Amino acid sequence: MKSTAIVLQKPYEFAIEERDVSDVEGWAVVRPLLLSICAADLRYYTGYRRTEALRQKLPMVLVHEGIGEIVRPAGDFREGERVVIIPAIPGYIHSPDKFPSKEECCAGCADETLGENHCTNIRFLSSNADGLTQTLIQHPPKCLSRIPDGVEDNTAALTELITVAYNAVKNVHFAPGAKVAIFGDGPVSYLMACVLRFIKIVPEEDLHIFGMSDEKLSRFTFARTCNVESCPPKNDHYAYAFECVGGIYSQDVIESGMKALHLGGSLFLIGVSETEIPVDTRVILEKRLTLTGVSRSPRQDYPEVLERLRDKELLALVRSIPYSEIFDVHDAESCGRAFDFAASKKYWGKILLRLDLS
Ligand SMILES: [Zn+2]
Ligand SMILES: [Zn+2]
Repeated sequence: MKSTAIVLQKPYEFAIEERDVSDVEGWAVVRPLLLSICAADLRYYTGYRRTEALRQKLPMVLVHEGIGEIVRPAGDFREGERVVIIPAIPGYIHSPDKFPSKEECCAGCADETLGENHCTNIRFLSSNADGLTQTLIQHPPKCLSRIPDGVEDNTAALTELITVAYNAVKNVHFAPGAKVAIFGDGPVSYLMACVLRFIKIVPEEDLHIFGMSDEKLSRFTFARTCNVESCPPKNDHYAYAFECVGGIYSQDVIESGMKALHLGGSLFLIGVSETEIPVDTRVILEKRLTLTGVSRSPRQDYPEVLERLRDKELLALVRSIPYSEIFDVHDAESCGRAFDFAASKKYWGKILLRLDLS
């Protein structure tokens, strides 16, 4: 079986290539249909990665967020069913010969409180394995999640991103009255805020969003919003802070987050930075702060999140995240146009790609 793939050869340069679809017994063949571009994909596309990483990873098929339909069934999936394609394949699933059990794979797989998203043998689409901009991929059925009725494609395509926010806090108990600060006004912050408000039930008055753009902040209708320029966060006031910005602003945000936390507070690091960042450890020591890194999500979170999306209020908010235009991708050029627009950052929301390479 062959797959037609759009491959990133080097930054800003896509090309079409034919690839053999691997033939692993017991795995399904899936046709990716609707995808969403992640900041991680844009870092490859624009060359905003360390030179060494680019040299090692390219050429590569990008995109790890998306849904598809089953072409060749496996497990309990039927032909034609809509599924979310889970991009994280832990070692014990992709190489059972080498890692026959979770325990023999790694600490992340063995211990659910760490999670198999931190598997040291992980295969992750569009990171160390080809991603979804291709006509067919083979995928283990354990890493597919059925989309429930009532959750339409545009929303389901965002599941991966929601699971990352969900994974960050699913085991955190938010005490009544605990104040929460989220730094950032983009879609990652928005989804983090949605999860906190509607899944962890943090009251609106305790959920404060700090951003730079009044226009973007106006989308957070279900939380209190503050422009950091005119109303910076109160010092020593918050129990939890979330860094959802990443990139060149990470350092400022981490500093602000640590100042805003009170004694014993927790800072969750969600944004990704490509450079090393100095951190004022004295503040961590004095206030006994906990910094927690959040990366990816385990497959177990997907059905839980998809089930949560049946909540009408949450669903309505998630529906407002995709950018109004869905980009049709039928060749390397149209894929490049979608990525150029996504990289322009002249919009709010997530860029969706409708894949049709036939
Ligand atoms: Zn992503
Ligand atoms: Zn593992």
